[in-house]
Amino acid sequence: MPMTHPIHARIDGAIVMIGFGSIGRGTLPLIERHFHYDPAQLTVIDPSDRASAHLDDRGIAHRQVALTPDNYREVLGELLTPGRGFCVNLSVDTSSLDLMRYCRELRVPYIDTVIEPWAGFYFDTDDNAARTNYALRQAVRDEKAWNPGGTTAVSCCGANPGMVSWFVKAALLRLAEDTGADATAPASREGWARLMQSLDVKGVHIAERDTQARRLPRPRDVFVNTWSVEGFIAEGFQPAELGWGTHETWFPENARRHGSGCQSAIWLNRPGAITRVHSWCPTPGPQFGYLVTHNEAISIADYYTVGEGPGPEFRPTCHYAYHPCDDAVLSLHEMFGAGVTQADHHILTEDEIVEGVDELGVLLFGHAKNALWYGSRLSNEETKRLAPDQNATGLQVTSAVLAGMVWALENPEAGIVETDEMNHARCLEIQTPYLGPVEAHYTDWTPLQDRWQHFPEDIDESDPWQFRNVLAS
Ligand code: NAD
Repeated sequence: MPMTHPIHARIDGAIVMIGFGSIGRGTLPLIERHFHYDPAQLTVIDPSDRASAHLDDRGIAHRQVALTPDNYREVLGELLTPGRGFCVNLSVDTSSLDLMRYCRELRVPYIDTVIEPWAGFYFDTDDNAARTNYALRQAVRDEKAWNPGGTTAVSCCGANPGMVSWFVKAALLRLAEDTGADATAPASREGWARLMQSLDVKGVHIAERDTQARRLPRPRDVFVNTWSVEGFIAEGFQPAELGWGTHETWFPENARRHGSGCQSAIWLNRPGAITRVHSWCPTPGPQFGYLVTHNEAISIADYYTVGEGPGPEFRPTCHYAYHPCDDAVLSLHEMFGAGVTQADHHILTEDEIVEGVDELGVLLFGHAKNALWYGSRLSNEETKRLAPDQNATGLQVTSAVLAGMVWALENPEAGIVETDEMNHARCLEIQTPYLGPVEAHYTDWTPLQDRWQHFPEDIDESDPWQFRNVLAS
């Protein structure tokens, strides 16, 4: 049966999309399908020729310009309609904070999928604490504290960060139900944190396995990925970061705390994309993932904190455990080995991918049923049936953008929000038709299982879910 496409809302005024890479290209058809708007009022801003070619073919207005700290007010000011419309930021090298501030000044709803900084932030300083996502997020949290309420700006609403925060809530309710606890959705942040605490969840991995592959072997000196290569390289070279749970009894030698802000996270003095962790996903079972820094590791640990500051009553450990597609693993290996990034970048398109699934979920661990993986197992094949112009990784992101836009239009005066703070049931209701199978899997796996028996390891056998055991030596 053909899929029907409900219209979720009407957008009056200008829709401005910033960035038209893999995510922008995939988001556009979802906007076209699910909103009533005037197509003459839609403009894309992107400096690249590739974006221009695609947009020209489709007759879509665009400005071929890179936003900078000097021009963004002028360029956006000419395009946005004060008090209406929408600004959808899907670019790299633009400051999410500056853009959301300006949109809120104009009372234009805003959404992005990461807290992106202006070009230079990721590599122009040796101060690793300043290059963390903690620092980027804290600046947005400070803006929220100083300017509460007002026009809605949804921060970090992609797949992860984004959708996975809705999965955490769905998984908690599932776990409550399966363990005979009260499975009523809490009405407040404190209620959700207390629920996680009462279920004895010690932590959460954002556990992902991307098996999408094409027939052609990866050529040498090309960084291949299923989403932004630039974005992945940037975050891969940031320090590893994780929400630091109250059950942890060990502290890594190269770990550092933050002296200010919510203090939900720590960082390791080492790039995330060469920091491996033991984790679990349904298809591979046990696997290595990379502890690449992500906003959700910090926001989820913060949202589920009972108490405050560096020594709260309860806080989960939370981090990404990412096994990107095999070509990206090889690309990372080549890049870190050579010490320089490849000049050629390639994002696998839906048409060249011949097999594979992006399996992206949350692994809630340490509770009465050991561990629960809850997430989307979307194949590229199914993606092609569901929506045009993207692979499975893309659709998990763009459908979250769609859900976030609908939520923002339904909640226009919510101020700056993270996805943890949004109604997960409403957002998943909009997003789920695009996620393929969304499944819950319990496993008896722990990081103490299936280790190599022949070499000594610095592990803690008294508590399987210590980060000391999760971190691969
Ligand atoms: P991409 O590299 O394919 O595209 C980025 C686009 O931004 C390019 O077309 C580029 O020309 C444009 N751009 C660069 N500098 C710009 C500037 N100064 N002004 C305007 N546009 C500019 O990236 P993508 O895969 O489309 O990802 C876009 C963003 O979404 C990235 O920030 C990425 O980290 C983020 N992302 C988030 C998630 C998530 O789940 N939360 C997942 C994937 C990507």
